[in-house]
Amino acid sequence: MLEFIDTHAHLHDPAFSPDLPDVLSRATAAGVRTVILMGEDLSHAHKNIELAKKYSMLRAGAGLYPDCLDMEAAETLIAFIRTHRNEIAAIGEVGLDYWIIKTDSEREVQREIFKRFIELSLELDLPINVHSRSAGRQAVSLLLAKGAEKVQLHAFDGRAAAAMEAVEAGYYFSVPPSVVRSRQKQKLVGHLPLSCLLLETDSPVLGPVCGQRNEPAHIRIAAEEVARIKNLPLQAVVERVWQNTIELYGDCVLPHG
Ligand SMILES: [Zn+2]
Repeated sequence: MLEFIDTHAHLHDPAFSPDLPDVLSRATAAGVRTVILMGEDLSHAHKNIELAKKYSMLRAGAGLYPDCLDMEAAETLIAFIRTHRNEIAAIGEVGLDYWIIKTDSEREVQREIFKRFIELSLELDLPINVHSRSAGRQAVSLLLAKGAEKVQLHAFDGRAAAAMEAVEAGYYFSVPPSVVRSRQKQKLVGHLPLSCLLLETDSPVLGPVCGQRNEPAHIRIAAEEVARIKNLPLQAVVERVWQNTIELYGDCVLPHG
């Protein structure tokens, strides 16, 4: 039996309100044992904690999407994460997005907020789940400069050279099902060692078919593509990725009881 941990999904998204229990049943049937929920603001953090209490396969994450440049909102969320440390499995998603944020002064604010979350990750010993669109190199160098330790780079779109620095620092990279339709992601997987790979879905986006709702059950598609690129048996990839995930997140992502 192949078993998976989806390390990055947005099940708080309204796309899942009509049928979340069905989505979770399909995930379970596909071998998904745990889903780590990402949050983009304080309301998602509340909702993720609620969802994790309701469904034993879910773990809550809390973060601020990098399009938010409100330092006060960041501080409020940081205080919330400190208070709810024991109910939270990850800080995320946070990071840099130079595709949305174009001006130097706004990017400076974005970097300041990202730094605060990196510091929080170190303070609370929580993994940090990082978004870095069109800012892969910048995100990695900031993480290295701050001495970040438990790092997941999600859907990394940077170059292999920037990625290798992160590999040397012991950071992990999560591969979504959209790898089947992205030359850049396929190339990156080809360069990265299996020992630093995780799987994610980023549901409801980054699915195998552009424009269609993605869900955690599709994680196997990402695993199969990694196995194809690495020319390894699927079972070997899935087992190693499971081990990598536990190394980063610890026992809290293992199935309950
Ligand atoms: Zn995401």
